Amino acid sequence: MGRIYLSVIIPVYNEEENILPLYRELRAVLGRINKTHEIIFVDDGSTDNTRTILTNLMDTVIGIKTISFIRHLGKSAALDAGFKAAKGEVIVTMDGDLQDDPNEIPRLLSKINKGFDLVVGWKQHRQDPFTKKIPSKIFNTLIQYMTGVQIHDSNCCLKAYKKKVVKDLEIYGDMHRYIPSLAHWMGYTVTEIKVNHRPRKHGKSKYGTLRLFNGVFDLLTVRFLMSFINQPLHLFGWFGLLSLLAGAFTGLYTTYLKYILHTSIGDRPLLIITILLILMGIQFISIGLLGELIIQRKRQ
Ligand code: UDP
Ligand code: MG
Repeated sequence: MGRIYLSVIIPVYNEEENILPLYRELRAVLGRINKTHEIIFVDDGSTDNTRTILTNLMDTVIGIKTISFIRHLGKSAALDAGFKAAKGEVIVTMDGDLQDDPNEIPRLLSKINKGFDLVVGWKQHRQDPFTKKIPSKIFNTLIQYMTGVQIHDSNCCLKAYKKKVVKDLEIYGDMHRYIPSLAHWMGYTVTEIKVNHRPRKHGKSKYGTLRLFNGVFDLLTVRFLMSFINQPLHLFGWFGLLSLLAGAFTGLYTTYLKYILHTSIGDRPLLIITILLILMGIQFISIGLLGELIIQRKRQ
């Protein structure tokens, strides 16, 4: 098989009524784009007929891959599996519920051709109930504030990526919501375009109002890791220094107790604490230095 230009990844969880209409629409658009492509459906452990429909589709037409999870693992895991399987130079992700419009794909691709590494859709007129739109606005403002990445709709599934971005991303938990921030922190160029959004006609939304905020902790973890992953001594060094300072302080105090006030210190825990703090300090700093050494090695 020759080189594939475009991989379209679609995570689906109980979308039995949407798959075939989406496939037909997508095929028409991909026909117009006229480049080699593959469509990857990732079935996130559906309990309706999604899996059977996908298997039948795969048997009757070419250019379709399906990945089926035995149990429900979530949209991030589904996207991650799709990313790992994708062979295209450019990867497009979209929802499988017909809310994302396949006709937007050519516009996403033209931004990629202009040199951007990641193009994010912005559902400016989101066709969802208010109970979804308002938390989403708050969430996106929070993300913009926390990450400094000015993307209006981080969570929009309609995105186009250069292959290198996708191969670098490892997403789990609820992390699909922060892909633009992750890509930006990894040094990739990220932009957005306004995209059409359609109401859901069949099936139900899989996300409740508050689910959106569950992943804020994931984001904090990622932010934290991103800050220190390339400079471990900045993290461990501070812990080490604090521990050494505290050890020095309790050490001076025990010396003062013993030699100035002539009190016995043998039966007090202070002495042991002092030794512990100093040892911990040395260990933290050593771990930081080891981390720096490992990173230096990796860079060479
Ligand atoms: N989805 C999934 N796993 C999940 C939740 C959703 O694969 O745990 C898929 C779902 O089938 C759809 C897309 O992700 O194709 C977007 O989900 P949904 O429409 O429920 O989200 P909303 O548009 O309401 O935010
Ligand atoms: Mg939807």
